[in-house]
Parts: sequence; structure tokens; C-alpha cells
Amino acid sequence: MDTSLLWEIIEILYLNENEPMTVLDLKRELDPGRDRSITKRDINRVLYYKRGTVFQTCGNSPGTSKPLWNLTSETYHFMDVLYQEKSAFDPESVDKTELFCVSCGDLKITSYCENPNCKENPVPIGATAVPGDITGGEGKSILKLFGYYAGQGSSKEEREFAIQEALETILWILPGAKNEDYVKSFGEPKSKTRCHRLIELLQGFNVPNYLNSREEDIEYIMKICSTYEDSTHD
Ligand SMILES: [Zn+2]
Repeated sequence: MDTSLLWEIIEILYLNENEPMTVLDLKRELDPGRDRSITKRDINRVLYYKRGTVFQTCGNSPGTSKPLWNLTSETYHFMDVLYQEKSAFDPESVDKTELFCVSCGDLKITSYCENPNCKENPVPIGATAVPGDITGGEGKSILKLFGYYAGQGSSKEEREFAIQEALETILWILPGAKNEDYVKSFGEPKSKTRCHRLIELLQGFNVPNYLNSREEDIEYIMKICSTYEDSTHD
């Protein structure tokens, strides 16, 4: 994997406001003087290798079958943060080696490698990494992480699915993260602590319209939790 070419392509797309480009567009940007002997094949290799994680296709160039590429929203956001942080510095001085996993070469959207097949990925198998912005409070709860939504148009099945995930998932956080205490307060999966904390959370939702669904959901948690053995985790 040619990480310097990967990096150049990411920067071109980012600095062009993530306008979708064909491989030929990229080639023109990368090698305007045609003296770098970068081939379309080289570019395609990078694009397809990182398709879905770093790059995505978004239709074809009008009137042709040539795919248009741009950055995934995660990558675009990552670049935004990077550029804001580094705006005071010369972009050339950014140490790009830190951005890629030393083992698998994947772009690290967070501070660690998220590739599920990479030995550098610190998240244990079966665990869910809790991002640093899940700190409790409105719109930032653990339930949100599992897609819980109780507003208009929410279905009981969807809410119950999210709740079950929240009850039974191993939560992992980057050691020393700011939300460590919040996440740890949810205890082990299928524990009494987890049950109590999720009920507390629902009780705290200060939205009277959704009272019915909230009561239903609390009942659902109690029903599920009664099937857990008396936990040895707590
Ligand atoms: Zn890796």
C-alpha cells in the first residue's frame, strides 16, 4: 500500500470540498505536468483498497460509466479536525506517519486502528468502542450509541432492539478518556448495575410526550433483567 499516494488523494478530495472526482480527474490533480508516471491503475488500486472506509463511490460521471469518488463522511470529518488543529502550522510539517496504522496501513480515523482484522486494534472482539463524545446528557447517552430513539415515528421493536444491545454489549473506552467514569458507571453487560443505570437514564429523559414509550421501555428492561442470573459482576 502506497500511503503517500493514499494521503495525496485524501488531501486533494478534502481540499476540493469533497467534490466527487473520477480517477482521471485525480490523475490530473496528482500529476499536472505528467512527469510523475502515476497511472490510473495506481490510483484505482488505492481507491478500491480503501473503498468503504476512506473513500466511497457516488454514482458515475454524467454520460459515462466512470465512477465518481469522494471521502466518506468519517474521513472528511477526520480531515476537518486535523486541519483545524494544524492550521497554525505549515501543513507540510504534519507528521503523516501517525495517521496510518503501522501494522495494516489503514487510516486511523480515531487515535487507534479500527480495522477489525488488525492486531493493533485495541478493542476486544465483541466489544463496542464508545466514542469520546458519549458523555451523558442530551443526545449524548449510551442509548444514543445504540440508536435508541423514542420520538415520533419510533417503533417498539426498534427501541427494544437498541435497549437489548445496550444491556448486553461490552463497552470499551480508550484508557484515560474523558468519559471513562460515565461509561464505567454502566458496569458489565447483563449486570444489575447496567439495568439500573439504563432505567435511570430513561427516567431522566425530560420529554413528557414520550412518557408512554418510556414506561414501556422501562418495563422491558425490568423484564429482560429478571432473566439475568444474579450477577457476579457487581
Ligand atoms: Zn491496523
